[in-house]
Amino acid sequence: MARYIFITGGVVSSLGKGLMAASLGALLQARGYSVRIRKLDPYLNVDPGTMSPYQHGEVYVTDDGAETDLDLGHYERFTGVPSLQSDNVTSGRIYQSIITKERRGDYLGATVQVIPHVTDAIQEFAQDQLDDVDFVLCEIGGTVGDIESLPFIEALRQLRNKVGRDNAISVHVTLVPFIAAAGELKTKPTQHSVRELTSLGIQPDILLCRCEQPLPDGERAKIAQFCNVRKEAVIPALDASNIYNVPLQYHKEGLDGEVLRAFGVTDAPEPDMSKWADVMERIENPEGEVIVGVVGKYVGLQDAYKSLQEALFHGGLANRVKVKVKWLDAELFEGDAPDLNELEPLHAILVPGGFGSRGSEGKIAAVRFARERQVPFFGICLGLHMACIEGLRSAGVAGASTTEFGETSEPVVGLITEWMTEEGIEKREEGGDLGGTMRLGAYPANLRSDSLIAKIYGTTEISERHRHRYEVNNAYTEKLEQDGLIFSGMSPDGLLPETIERPDHPWFIGVQYHPELKSKPFDPHPLFASFVAAAVKQSRLV
Ligand code: GLN
Repeated sequence: MARYIFITGGVVSSLGKGLMAASLGALLQARGYSVRIRKLDPYLNVDPGTMSPYQHGEVYVTDDGAETDLDLGHYERFTGVPSLQSDNVTSGRIYQSIITKERRGDYLGATVQVIPHVTDAIQEFAQDQLDDVDFVLCEIGGTVGDIESLPFIEALRQLRNKVGRDNAISVHVTLVPFIAAAGELKTKPTQHSVRELTSLGIQPDILLCRCEQPLPDGERAKIAQFCNVRKEAVIPALDASNIYNVPLQYHKEGLDGEVLRAFGVTDAPEPDMSKWADVMERIENPEGEVIVGVVGKYVGLQDAYKSLQEALFHGGLANRVKVKVKWLDAELFEGDAPDLNELEPLHAILVPGGFGSRGSEGKIAAVRFARERQVPFFGICLGLHMACIEGLRSAGVAGASTTEFGETSEPVVGLITEWMTEEGIEKREEGGDLGGTMRLGAYPANLRSDSLIAKIYGTTEISERHRHRYEVNNAYTEKLEQDGLIFSGMSPDGLLPETIERPDHPWFIGVQYHPELKSKPFDPHPLFASFVAAAVKQSRLV
């Protein structure tokens, strides 16, 4: 039977619970256990798909087409276990399913209530589709004390009773702030937060204390005493030099050992940390540096491009170089005589995914710069659309555009209304709901065997994750090919363009999917490894 680790946060938000869960998962794996990590989000949106990247950061897409919280990206990057729809739930989704059942009359006239109906549904989610996994880590979003997280904490309290106290433990992540005026770390917020959690029926087994300064022994003992936790289970969690150092750091502080001890496991093998040591060795000893410009719309908040940022970093690890990312607002490159000076020092240019027309002319200008100046170019999703529009405009079709930006006489990119899935044709109505109406999740593609992209992947059959409504219009592919842009990858039915490239350019690739979602520090995505390698070559030219 699976054992449960409940992870809650106290005092303030943004303590890095997601990273903590991901790192603990990686540590348990390093000891030979299998893990699944799940995120329980108390907000009322059904999924984060319709939330602004400014508010919520990136929407992370799973193989099975779920639009999920960006923490699932951390889970996957740290554990290598592909996330699934069944790993993320929100209050909104739970209420949606309960209300649907209520309308159908499934409750046979009973009063539908938070306890037991909502709390039962939360427990079902936590226990769903676990196969033979050894440990399930359930991270609850928000902070203990929030009104909206109450049903989740109650559900986990009940679940702990159901599965037995030996099979479920609680890890509480708190803050131990340094008060400069007193010159001291303060334990009181942690005490209050634990009191709040125990008043809800959960006594934490382990406290992970985020602090900016080393936690003195006396403070550790004080927290242990007031919070009813073993002193060794009060784990100091100092800010890490790099997120990929967190598993090594937490292991040194004894986190995984304490977690196993709380389950009564005393004979677990020592973890094999060589994978993480290798990642850190590469991070700490770069042999050079490249500058990659990302020309996008949400550049003010890098969480909006979290996986992209990480995938570029991984590409650097593959090449033993540091990738310095310059986040450039596409609107900088717009207007009648745009100043492209900021593009000059870049060793490579990437136009990422995005929605809506703002900044699009700047993105097109960046594509043109990269094409004409032979600077390595990578276009992802909307970036591929921009590369096709730029290609067609340069081939003389001045009005080339996408229907995403409004009506156009030359729709190089248009709304897709149907596509093949494993179950058959999937259709979508124009003007339908925004939530969950995209081509989402993993789809296969076939690559031309003589293409650069097939060489990079080392295969002609790939599967990558999608999240888009618009697609290159086949009516224009011939014209684009005549102009030197080839469609190197197509959906297996030959209908949907998946990848493009320019054979007359050192590295010019566009993809309709999001390769960044599958990159890992210990297994960098081949496209990012190759793109950064191209940037390294470029850096030797300029
Ligand atoms: N907005 C574009 C579409 O919906 C691209 C989406 C994306 O970049 N993820 O097709």
